[in-house]
Amino acid sequence: MQIADIRCHPLRVQLPVPQRTSQGDWESLDIVVVEVETADGIVGIGEGLARRSSAAYALMIDEILAPRVIGCHAMDRRAIWRSMRSALTGRPGTQMLEAMAAIDIALWDIAGKALNQPVYRLLGGVGRTHLPAYASSINWLDDETVAREVGSALEAGFRQIKVKLGGTPAQSIARARYVRGLVPDDVALCADANWAFDVHEAIRVGFALWDLGYDFFEEPIAPEDRDGYRTLARQLPIRLAAGESDSVASDVLEFLHDRSLGLIQPDVARSGGITETWRMAELAAAHNVAYAPHVGWSGAVCAAASLHLAAAAESFRTYECMVFDNPLRQALCTPLLGDVRCLENGMLAVPQTPGLGVEFDRDALREFTRRPER
Ligand SMILES: [Mg+2]
Repeated sequence: MQIADIRCHPLRVQLPVPQRTSQGDWESLDIVVVEVETADGIVGIGEGLARRSSAAYALMIDEILAPRVIGCHAMDRRAIWRSMRSALTGRPGTQMLEAMAAIDIALWDIAGKALNQPVYRLLGGVGRTHLPAYASSINWLDDETVAREVGSALEAGFRQIKVKLGGTPAQSIARARYVRGLVPDDVALCADANWAFDVHEAIRVGFALWDLGYDFFEEPIAPEDRDGYRTLARQLPIRLAAGESDSVASDVLEFLHDRSLGLIQPDVARSGGITETWRMAELAAAHNVAYAPHVGWSGAVCAAASLHLAAAAESFRTYECMVFDNPLRQALCTPLLGDVRCLENGMLAVPQTPGLGVEFDRDALREFTRRPER
């Protein structure tokens, strides 16, 4: 079970339809994926979000992380995690934790394959075979496009839909009201502002969302404004959600202690992989706070790992099922998991095969790679 090799693939795709949030337009997406191979021939796969340059992340893995990991026992996941984290002096930044996520996820895939069990069972399954999922997201675009996107989500069978907000508080409230009018009363709605507001604006929008029956209000303000979240939690009746921007468990601990969040949403491809994300999910359960994995603009390995975390987490609430076309999520791996096309009555099946339950499609891997494979 000694780790013998790590093969890193920096990937990029142009999106068929560019995505727009309150933070701007995204025309292409980058992720970095790895294959970690043990001396006895077990290969695990993993993924890290790579923002604007997967090539830069590949260099971090090849030159900083891989030399520390090769030669370790593949089952010593926490030891490997700690060794990777200490690779740089000082506190590792978000980018390093995203690169670490790729290797850590691959180690869980190896463990599942070695033990012939799906990853969720290694985490301690709670008996879920299907997960409630929400459509993510209705873009911050014109009303006509929004109506079309909402129509598609309903047609796919979603019973929960997330709406992107932006612009001024008045524009956001108008959008929230507009979407409420487009869906039946029994369809749950939630909203994501991607930090569009300051505290005072967020209070105004939050009350409106509560009045309209929205279930949660995601990242109304910048994630580092901890006092701001505490203020919002004191003033607003609606459940606040955040966590996609938090990288390690200690980042969310403060939010859990004071209950300023009602839902935490760590992203396994950003938060150092399954090892650290699971710690966050366990801490959430211990504090009676709901957990929902963030998938966002990540790829197929992240989607699969998130299904396993969701299947095992005690306070899991809902799975983020992305509805925009992203070849990194839809074509990179087989079988297709956690996608809108897999939806059955608004629910997604938990993978039951050993490990993560997905493998790379070699043609897709080659097509999306930014440099020749070594
Ligand atoms: Mg978000």
